[in-house]
Amino acid sequence: METKDILVFIEQRNNVIQNVSYELLSEARKLVKQIKHVKFEVVGILLGNNLGQLPHDVLNHGADRVYVADHPELSHYSTLRYTHVISELIKQHKPDSFLIGASVIGRDLAPRIAARIDTGLTADATKIEINPNEENTSELWITRPAFGGNLFGTIVCPNHRPQMATIRPQVLDADFYQLNRPGIIVNLPYKPMEDNVRILNRIEKHQSGPDITHAQILISGGRGMLEHFELLDELAQLSGGVVAASRGVVDKGAASKDIQVGQTGKTVRPRLYLACGISGAVQHTAGMDKSETILAINSDPQAPIFSVATIGIVGDAKTILPLVIENLKHHKLKHH
Ligand SMILES: Cc1cc2nc3c(=O)[nH]c(=O)nc-3n(C[C@H](O)[C@H](O)[C@H](O)COP(=O)(O)OP(=O)(O)OC[C@H]3O[C@@H](n4cnc5c(N)ncnc54)[C@H](O)[C@@H]3O)c2cc1C
Repeated sequence: METKDILVFIEQRNNVIQNVSYELLSEARKLVKQIKHVKFEVVGILLGNNLGQLPHDVLNHGADRVYVADHPELSHYSTLRYTHVISELIKQHKPDSFLIGASVIGRDLAPRIAARIDTGLTADATKIEINPNEENTSELWITRPAFGGNLFGTIVCPNHRPQMATIRPQVLDADFYQLNRPGIIVNLPYKPMEDNVRILNRIEKHQSGPDITHAQILISGGRGMLEHFELLDELAQLSGGVVAASRGVVDKGAASKDIQVGQTGKTVRPRLYLACGISGAVQHTAGMDKSETILAINSDPQAPIFSVATIGIVGDAKTILPLVIENLKHHKLKHH
């Protein structure tokens, strides 16, 4: 089977390319560099309407080529139309692998395409590498948490192409950017098609608070802080941070699911992650262990959170946090 290149789904919402697509383009650049026996390109597929400069943006972020389908019927995500356009492109271009962000849209789209083109799919992956045991290969080893995050499985797709994966947002770095990077833009023809779903109305979801995935400082609380979230709120306000929570707290109804960190919540990478009264279950640490600095406060010296912490404080967060708050207030006063 003659296959080539790594295809990346470029997800746009309201004509804003989602960061996970940039993360995948950067990762694809690193992967093609390791495939030395044949020339692989990074190829993007972008669907939408009035896309303007977006295809150039895709090139600047690492694609060598971008296929574009620009049509009013594609302006918002539609399972059937997107599946159709992308499956046809895959049959024509024959990519060796196809990467999609594990967003709500990606998780809906990927299995549809995999079934239609008869290939496998590794869903919700956290790591991708080229088979390190063989030379002259483009075989991907794709790792994802399994059994509730208690172990990791590495999955290969030896007999079918493309090798498909959805990858969680924020686990890879979007570190490739080159202004005015040259590349090829190919416009795909699109024939209007019926969709068995008719959108009657579109209501934008408004984030109830600040987005924890973009915060530089996260003040995160677990069940140990259940009755004392006001301390976290105050500290967040003083430090310019945002409050986050473990699932232990969300399940108790004490915090919104929007601010849950972890495997079934969000993956975060702030500069500072302050974990107060969080035990550090793998399902929690999977969502925060890439933070730059992790400061953990826990009364139990054996708490697993300390194994991922940069700095660990064994103690009662209810007494430590008021001291930090007082200190910050004092510091602020001195500087006014
Ligand atoms: C499929 C699956 C998916 C999951 N997904 C997620 C997820 O996305 N995110 C997530 O967080 N969890 C997730 N979980 C749950 C996870 O396994 C843990 O149960 C959960 O993270 C525990 O929350 P916690 O640390 O707040 O509570 P606990 O485990 O109860 O820990 C509370 C901690 O607070 C400490 N403590 C108590 N009082 C104080 C005090 N005064 N000062 C300092 N420390 C104190 C205790 O020593 C303890 O370590 C998932 C589980 C499963 C099975």
